[in-house]
Parts: sequence; structure tokens; C-alpha cells
Amino acid sequence: MNPTREDGRGRPPVAGPVCPACREPLAVAAQVCASCGFTGGDTMTMFPDPAPPFMPLLDAAGIWNHEDVRKIEEARRKLRGTHPQFQWHVCSVMLPPGTSLPLFGFWMLNACPLYAGETAQERAWAVLLLIDARGSRAAVIPGYSAEAWLGDADWVEALSAMSVSWKAGHAGGAVLRFFETSARLLNRSWKKRGLRHSERFHS
Ligand SMILES: [Zn+2]
Repeated sequence: MNPTREDGRGRPPVAGPVCPACREPLAVAAQVCASCGFTGGDTMTMFPDPAPPFMPLLDAAGIWNHEDVRKIEEARRKLRGTHPQFQWHVCSVMLPPGTSLPLFGFWMLNACPLYAGETAQERAWAVLLLIDARGSRAAVIPGYSAEAWLGDADWVEALSAMSVSWKAGHAGGAVLRFFETSARLLNRSWKKRGLRHSERFHS
């Protein structure tokens, strides 16, 4: 499984809003990407079908068995214990070849109706792990509040951690590796920010 890097270019590890189409950093609250002209509305034209409810786990490709689902739920609960703001969503799909996975995920994040009990604030803290079972690809699409905490390079690392399990045929294990790596990277991000904060405090 390869992290989707459709631009093929290396990116400095910046955290913050990036354009879902070209991955260039976006000005906060920008409606149009200055780099490629992408607007969120473009995805509504690309994916005209009604969006499904934004379920915590949606296995449209049918890749997880009952035991996988149980372990994924358990790992998600554990993650919520250490990083309660984040709302982790896991979704498997079978997309036609050539479909951009990050743009499809961006569309889901914006077009899916709020799921039972979900608030708009929770949607902003959503992190969608989207797996295209047909193309063996995965992408992470963070909501705009979640986006500030990990950069593109971190998400690529979390996606890459799925590879070994995925290739061995363990679709559930791949998600667990993603969660473990995300937790480790979030802890690191938290510590870094805490340190910066205390440095400023003492200076
Ligand atoms: Zn762009």
C-alpha cells in the first residue's frame, strides 16, 4: 500500500492547511488555492452522487471481518483516551482507476451529512483514513482543526506504516498500524509544542 502522493514532489514537513488538489500551503480561510485555482466546489462537480453519512467506520469495499472491526474500534477508543479532540474515521472504497483519493476524501469530509450525534465542531476535528481497496492506495484527510497538528510528512509516515500488514493480506492490522503511528506522531507534536510554549514562558 502506498501513501497517495499524486504530485510526486517532496514537501517540507509543514503543518497547516494545504490545498487538497496540489498540496501547496493554503492561506487560512482561503476559498481558492492561489497555486492551482482549486475550490472546494470543484469536488461537487467531480463527485455528483449523494454523499453517504459520515460513519466512524464505513467498509464499502468489504475488506474487514468482524474481528478486524472489533480491533479497529478498540484502537480508536484507546486513541480517544489520549487525544480526545480527534474524531477518527476509517473508510474503505473501490474507486474507478484514475480517481484522486485525496479529492474524493475531501469531498466526503465536506459533503457527507453529519452522522447521528455528530457536531460541526467534531467534523472539523475529523481525521479520515480512506482506503481504496481496488488500487491498494490510502490517503489521510484531516478536518481543518485537526490539520494544524500533523503535517503531510507525518501522515505519509503513518500511511507507510500500513504497508507490511496490507501486503500480507491483513487489512485490519494495516489500520491498527496507522493508529499506532498516528498516536506516536501526535505525542511528539504535543511535546514539541509544549516545549516551545515553556521556552517562551521562561524567556
Ligand atoms: Zn492547489
